[in-house]
Amino acid sequence: MLATTSLLVLFVLLLTNCKPKSDSDEDTLLLLAVAASRICANSAYTGTTVVASTATLDTNTDCITGMTSSMSADLPAWIRNNFKCAVGSVSGSNYVFRSQNIPNNKSYYFGSTSPRYEALGSGQKAAGTNQISSQCLVYTIPSSPAAKSGTLTGTQSGYASVGITVNGLAIFNNAAAAPDTLSTEAQTFDQYNGHPQNSGVYHHHSQPLNISNNTSALIGVLIDGFPLYGQKCDNNTASTADDTIPTVDSNHGHTAATLLFPSGIYHYHYGSDATAGIPTLIGSYFYGTPGTVSN
Ligand SMILES: [Zn+2]
Ligand SMILES: [Zn+2]
Repeated sequence: MLATTSLLVLFVLLLTNCKPKSDSDEDTLLLLAVAASRICANSAYTGTTVVASTATLDTNTDCITGMTSSMSADLPAWIRNNFKCAVGSVSGSNYVFRSQNIPNNKSYYFGSTSPRYEALGSGQKAAGTNQISSQCLVYTIPSSPAAKSGTLTGTQSGYASVGITVNGLAIFNNAAAAPDTLSTEAQTFDQYNGHPQNSGVYHHHSQPLNISNNTSALIGVLIDGFPLYGQKCDNNTASTADDTIPTVDSNHGHTAATLLFPSGIYHYHYGSDATAGIPTLIGSYFYGTPGTVSN
């Protein structure tokens, strides 16, 4: 029993060292993902473990069958009304999201025998033999985000994910495993701009195309608590005719009023990124102080 507990602690410690940018050198994580699916992808939190080869979509929840999709009543409306395919709750001064991290879009990376399989787009090539698998990502995100003073925290500081999309998926930063750049890695994205790394963690560096296609839609929240939008800003009007691509700072963000935050809030936008060579969901630094993520 003691040995088992020690192993679990070791797994957790190692997992926190998972670097979103390292998509191709994570042999240890392969073992860890298997362990994680045994430890925490259970009905108490994220629902039954999803097997990619038999996954189907639950048309009532618009999430993969068997996954729990619930947002607690004490969460603010902007989360409660927009997030799904994860379990959201409030804990003290944090929001907590638990996600099994299986996409509700089809993907090449479910494997060719899966009902959720879809061929890659033309010109795309597979990321090795990587396939999507169940995770147990736990995000603890400050509910009162604030600008960080002094040196900003890098998004490449070993996070298992740097944010969660409105459909419960991991957001990765603007870097790829060296010597690749994201512009090279983008050739392995599926038809929804996502792909899994070696241990099956499906993620988006770029715009999730089943959420936003160069629109002002809410894409998710980053782990510093600030919301993430598509390429355009809704400018606090329901009309999309006046949605424009805003001028953003080096962290991909700006402060402005939006429909969900009429009093104004700092928020990120999907946009051009010099480091990545392609537009990405986040730059190299967080504007606020990041919370924590484990898997
Ligand atoms: Zn990646
Ligand atoms: Zn904006």
